Amino acid sequence: MEELLEQLLEECRPYTSLGKTADYIPELAKKDPDAFGIYVIGSEGKHSWAGDCRQSFTLQSMVKPILLLQALLDNGAEKVQSKVGVEATGKPFDAINAGEHTLDSRHINPMVNMGAIVMCTLIHGGSYKERFQRLLDLTGQLVGDPEVKIDQAVYLSEKNHGSKNRALAYLLKSYGILEDDVEEVLDCYFQACSIQVDCRGLAHMGAVLANRGKLPDSDQRVFPAPLARYVNAVLMTCGMYDGSGEFAIRVGIPAKSGVSGGIMAVVPTRMGIGIYSPALDRKGNSVAGIRLLEKLSERLYLSIF
Ligand code: GLN
Repeated sequence: MEELLEQLLEECRPYTSLGKTADYIPELAKKDPDAFGIYVIGSEGKHSWAGDCRQSFTLQSMVKPILLLQALLDNGAEKVQSKVGVEATGKPFDAINAGEHTLDSRHINPMVNMGAIVMCTLIHGGSYKERFQRLLDLTGQLVGDPEVKIDQAVYLSEKNHGSKNRALAYLLKSYGILEDDVEEVLDCYFQACSIQVDCRGLAHMGAVLANRGKLPDSDQRVFPAPLARYVNAVLMTCGMYDGSGEFAIRVGIPAKSGVSGGIMAVVPTRMGIGIYSPALDRKGNSVAGIRLLEKLSERLYLSIF
C-alpha cells in the first residue's frame, strides 16, 4: 500500500502547479503550494502514508461534517432539518443561495457556509464558549487527538477578513433562521474552521465515518451508526460543493474538502483517507488532491457506484 501511495503521489505532483492557495484568507495564502501528502487508515486499523502527511493545516470546511454530527447528536435529524436541509446547492460554498422569498431550510445545505453558520447555533451549551468546547471535544475524538487546538493566526485572519460570512450570517438573521448574536455565532464558526489537523487526523475521521461511528482500531463508538449514513450521504451529494457531481463520477466516494487544501474521504466499511495539497481549483478544491483520489479510487476500486 505504501509503495502505491508513493507512486501515485509522484504521478500527481505536477498538478500542484495548476492551482493557487486560497488568498481571501491572507494567512492561507502564505502556505507552501508544493506541500503534498496522503494518509490512509483501514477499518481494521492499518496505517499507510506518503509525503508531507504530518504537516499541519486547518480544517476549514472539513469541520462541516463535525458540526453536522454535533448538531444531530444534540437535536436529532428532524430538528436539524427544520433549520438545515440535505439537498445539494450546486453553488459555490459561500454563495448567497436565496431569492427574495426562498430562504428556508430546503435551500440551506450543511456542507456550505450558510448551513455551517446555522449549525453553530444548534450545538447545545450554556454559552458559545461551552458550545465550541463541546465541538472541539468531538473533533478530538474524530481525528484521534485529544490535544487538538485552533491555529490562532488563521483564526484571526478569518475573523478580520470575514465580510462575506458576515453578510451570510446577517441575511440568516434577517430571515429569523439565526436568532443568536451574529458576532458570537461567527466567532464559533471561525474558530471551528481554524482547528488544526494533519492528514493522519483526516484519515482517522474518515475511518470513523467508514466504520459507521466506531473507532478504527477498537469497539469504542463515537456516535450511533445511523448518523454515519446521514453524514456520508450528505458528503457524497455536496461535500465538494458545486464540484460534487463530477467528483462522484471521477472518484465516487463521500468526501469533504476545505480551502486549506485538505480532503477528508470515506470509503464505507473499508478506509478513511486524508490528503493535503493547498493549491486549489476555482471551486476551492485541491487540484492535486482530487487527482490523487481519482487514481487511488481507480487502482483500488473504491467507487461506491
Ligand atoms: N473558513 C472558510 C470560509 O468560511 C471555509 C470555506 C471552505 O473551506 N470552503 O470561507
